Amino acid sequence: MCGIFGIYRNEKAAELVTLGLFAEQHRGQESCGMAVNDGIALRLRKKMGLVKEVFRPEKLTNLQGDIAIGHVRYPTCGASSVYNSQPHVVETLSGPSYALTSNGDIVNYIELRKDLEAKGVYFASTNDGELILKFIVYHVEKQGLSIIEAIREGMKHLKGAYSSLLATKEELYMFRDPYGFRPMVFGELQDGSTVVASESCALDILYPRWFKEVKPAEIIVVNKLGLTHIENDPAEYRETATARHCIFEHIYFSRPDSFVFGESVYKVRMNIGKLLAKADNVQADMVIPVPDSSNFIALGYSREKGIPYEIGLIRNHYVGRTFIKPDQTIRDESVYQKFNALPYFFEGRKVILIDDSIVRGTTLRKITKMIRNAGASEVHLRIGSPPVRYSCYYGIDTPTRKELIASNKSVAEIQEYIGADSLQYLDIQDLRKAVSVPEDYCYACFDGDYPVL
Ligand code: SF4
Repeated sequence: MCGIFGIYRNEKAAELVTLGLFAEQHRGQESCGMAVNDGIALRLRKKMGLVKEVFRPEKLTNLQGDIAIGHVRYPTCGASSVYNSQPHVVETLSGPSYALTSNGDIVNYIELRKDLEAKGVYFASTNDGELILKFIVYHVEKQGLSIIEAIREGMKHLKGAYSSLLATKEELYMFRDPYGFRPMVFGELQDGSTVVASESCALDILYPRWFKEVKPAEIIVVNKLGLTHIENDPAEYRETATARHCIFEHIYFSRPDSFVFGESVYKVRMNIGKLLAKADNVQADMVIPVPDSSNFIALGYSREKGIPYEIGLIRNHYVGRTFIKPDQTIRDESVYQKFNALPYFFEGRKVILIDDSIVRGTTLRKITKMIRNAGASEVHLRIGSPPVRYSCYYGIDTPTRKELIASNKSVAEIQEYIGADSLQYLDIQDLRKAVSVPEDYCYACFDGDYPVL
């Protein structure tokens, strides 16, 4: 999971991209970068670290220009290194410059990279964003295709997830894979400049006149003529009849104040909580979320059951999301740094603890123990998704099946490992009811039905 943000024709491009990336920091905290066009060259800055550290005001003075694209990364394809951070840039001898950022994962990365290397294309990283860029540049510069034709050629060959932005000195291109795995929205600011982001929460802070979604397989070109939409038929490029939006964007990744895949994330999370409650007959004194991604799931559950919603766990917001830290040691230590139980709050009380998902189970085991140590008489664990049994190949860094607890243990064994009095997951059929168009979603990490491999 990563976040992208772009802007066309705004004198404060670098400042606005910084704001947009800051709003998308939850999508990746390992590194960030920005490429800005000043009409002569594309200038690049990318470093390991958070947006507020990498793009301090004094660092923006060298990033002058009115077309800019930026990226926040958490590592999936390629190691944790600044070489794999984005944007990637190509400057050609004939003059044109290209910069690209992308959110997703290319599943046939190795095959396509070998093919391009055999044709003399050089790679400086092991990141799939560079592959997408080099694929397009090769087809434009060596094969004589237009950029649009090269992107279309890419849709035939690049398998997997990509919501991408390509900037040249004159134009901004946005395009999305035919399955629409990752979100992407664009809009217009009050001054007429065009903005594009992974999530609508990053556009909201700029008060856009309007925004809407980039459709699967759509290419949008922004240049001095305005916006040109090239709506390709996704069916020509994909193996499924319908789109495959990542359902986990609603469950966990996206911010609740975003509209993702045409629907409100917070409403989907409320629906999940209600559906979880309807299938449950446990009684308790309170419902508490594992903050923050489970807040609305717990609220929906509480309203449906009429059991009070309480905030019993306090989260330290200055610690990153445990799930997206690349190293297991860091992840384990972060749990205690991140959460604490309210003192004198749980004693003798029956608790329904809500979380969005269980990946390895290590975090929930520690949180359950923390609540018990704080005096809770019972801890009933309810999960707003089905068991995660399969790895993701479309831009989410889920571990191998060996590390996924639900791949190796039954629900009863997981309950015992975590130390809960009971454990109940959301049924996959109920998850489908939580969204408006269930057939347009990917559920592969629950059912192993991968749309493209
Ligand atoms: S496999 Fe899971 S996490 Fe990956 S795209 Fe599909 S639903 Fe999302």
